[in-house]
Amino acid sequence: MTQIRTRIAPSPTGDPHVGTAYIALFNRAFAKSHGGQFILRIEDTDQGRSTPESEAAILKSLSWLGLEWDEGPDCGGPHGPYRQSERKAIYQKYAQQLVDEGHAFHCFCTAERLEQMRQERQAEGLSGYDGHCAHLPAEEVAKRLAAGEPSVVRMKVPESGVCELQDELRGQIDIEWQQIDMQVLLKSDGMPTYHLACVVDDHLMEITHVLRGEEWISSTPKQVLLYQYFGWQPPVFCHLPLLRNADKSKLSKRKNPTSIDYYHALGILPEALLNFLGMMGWTMPNGEEKFSQQQMIEHFDVKRVSLGGPVFDPEKLDWLNGRYIREDLSAEELLQRLIDWRFNKEFVGQFLPMVQQRIERLSDAAPLAQFFFQGLPSMTPASFESVKLDEDALKKVLQLILWKLEAQRHWSKDSIMEDLKQVAEHQALKMRDVMPAMFISITGSPASVSVLDAMAILGPDMTRGRIRHAIDVLGGLGKKKLKSLEKEFLQMAKASD
Ligand code: GLU
Repeated sequence: MTQIRTRIAPSPTGDPHVGTAYIALFNRAFAKSHGGQFILRIEDTDQGRSTPESEAAILKSLSWLGLEWDEGPDCGGPHGPYRQSERKAIYQKYAQQLVDEGHAFHCFCTAERLEQMRQERQAEGLSGYDGHCAHLPAEEVAKRLAAGEPSVVRMKVPESGVCELQDELRGQIDIEWQQIDMQVLLKSDGMPTYHLACVVDDHLMEITHVLRGEEWISSTPKQVLLYQYFGWQPPVFCHLPLLRNADKSKLSKRKNPTSIDYYHALGILPEALLNFLGMMGWTMPNGEEKFSQQQMIEHFDVKRVSLGGPVFDPEKLDWLNGRYIREDLSAEELLQRLIDWRFNKEFVGQFLPMVQQRIERLSDAAPLAQFFFQGLPSMTPASFESVKLDEDALKKVLQLILWKLEAQRHWSKDSIMEDLKQVAEHQALKMRDVMPAMFISITGSPASVSVLDAMAILGPDMTRGRIRHAIDVLGGLGKKKLKSLEKEFLQMAKASD
């Protein structure tokens, strides 16, 4: 019997997302329930957006959750390397094979031509590449390549007919080939795009089942076609339902924090978060809501995943986490969890020197530092009384700062300061008008230890979560204002480029 092998294939382009953990959990549960293997592969072909920091954070948070992998970039394995940026030569070889066999072609179109083509086709209600380079004579192609003219490799796609996809949960999905673009497989710098790299790797890594989010359904025809071109057996595809906000929209950080680190900072236990993610579209046969990963594995049946969009409800997560704290931990274990979480030298040591400068008694330390241990500090609109900005200006400035910090890739006191300064300048405000609003949003009080240091220590997710919370407490901005502010933000970002 074939060994069942599944994988999680995150792109290291941001914070470790709860959606990645959700998909990883279902892949792991499926593989382990069949005595199979679960692989971690890093899809970092988008070199402009991928960072080693993000990769490290993803690995760290998945292992914090107990989602260990059998093969991966850190532990190796027989099918490595497990980082796509290290597999360039492999993809180039397969792209060449497709060109040689007439399934793909070199495309020399310039950015200008592609833009003009896009506009013309759009006017006709069409999309995608027009096939301009698909039929260039072989001698011309050879000549242009030899002359060093830049080109990409695109895949050929049938002009008519229907792609019949088989999905383990949804049955057959029909997608017309006309809707499928002649996808770029290899970029002009020799880097593959997602589709080529994913298919080649899933094949070479002997992946038997691909469980991934439903947002990938529309990519699957291209991948099925590539399997066909290569003459390879495709894996079984199973597209899992997307996590949703309470209003059923796709889970987004605008409405819910989505970073695993945020839930760690909030004091959610890894086993509770994992259990909660296991409840997304799946239930234990006996209906019990509290279950361990091992229990999930023992009872897992992918056919029982329900497609109705599972809601990521933070209140339910709190409720479940409370059950774990009360029912599963002895007082001693709870103490140890607290120590591992925040009550340790490493964490306290970061802000203690600042506290030291401001206290007269040891008993002053805890009240001054309490906000470092909080989730979202309690506050009301009245908490912002000392801020010398009217409510609209205040919400605006907080929102701009939030967006700025969401785009910030390098989290440090200096970079945060730069971001705040830029927003203040853009809004023609003085820093002394902006800082009090930050103090209250982050610490819940108008004065405390340095708020810039505090933000650096609390980290990006908790900082952003608190600013978002402050905006909500102030009544939010409303759709219309948010839209026009978004424009302002883009202008501000442009001006600072
Ligand atoms: N790199 C893709 C992602 O970021 C993987 C999609 C897939 O599982 O095929 O989710």
